[in-house]
Amino acid sequence: MFAAHFAAGLALKTQTPKTPAWILITAAFLPDFLWIVLAGLGVEPAAPDVFFDGWSHSLLSILVQATAFALLFRGRERIIIWCAVASHFVLDFLIHPRPLQLFPHSSIDLGWDLWAWGHERTMGATHYWLAQISITCVLLGIYTARAKSVSVPANLAAASILLIVGLSLIF
Ligand SMILES: [Zn+2]
Repeated sequence: MFAAHFAAGLALKTQTPKTPAWILITAAFLPDFLWIVLAGLGVEPAAPDVFFDGWSHSLLSILVQATAFALLFRGRERIIIWCAVASHFVLDFLIHPRPLQLFPHSSIDLGWDLWAWGHERTMGATHYWLAQISITCVLLGIYTARAKSVSVPANLAAASILLIVGLSLIF
């Protein structure tokens, strides 16, 4: 859910305007960065029959990532950065190739299997795209509503929104 994570980073930028957007977007996307590295190393295979991402995406792992990344910052910024990383769990909890684990290799799965349910029983292959664009639009709506009050230039806000909507149309 690339675009929704980027949108979450932007929405949270309105809570800490002086923090560069790229830091908040990196924070919101951090578990996927870790997943890309671990998938490349073969630690978290993503084949349909052997999908595992507990080291990058379990609840415990994301809380550890959020805390570790947030420690690089101070005060209110630290709290918002922590929320940005933690938002990754909330968004992936909604729809993900497999239910997220409590901790790596835990037998306890969290949430439901909307991915399979949506794909097999309702909307077919577009269900993930529809879920992502819906969530992305809500988050971009929050960003749009608050951007002016925290002095984000209108042209920058519009360009950011267009970029993220474009991403969600592609992926
Ligand atoms: Zn993810």
